[in-house]
Amino acid sequence: MIRKDLVNYQNETHEDNSCPKCKGDLEFNGGSNMETENWYCNDCNSSYLVQVEMVRFWETLEECKL
Ligand SMILES: [Zn+2]
Repeated sequence: MIRKDLVNYQNETHEDNSCPKCKGDLEFNGGSNMETENWYCNDCNSSYLVQVEMVRFWETLEECKL
């Protein structure tokens, strides 16, 4: 639930996630730690680190009974 937007972002082909060098498509390359993600360009073999922001939807807060 909390990560929904982040997951959607990773799956989307966003117009901003093109390679700054060759404008090729960047591929999500894992490494998400809630602060940064690794992206990779297959066209020119460059790796990129991008900062992400985790958003908490406190309005969805509900008690969790385990
Ligand atoms: Zn590239």
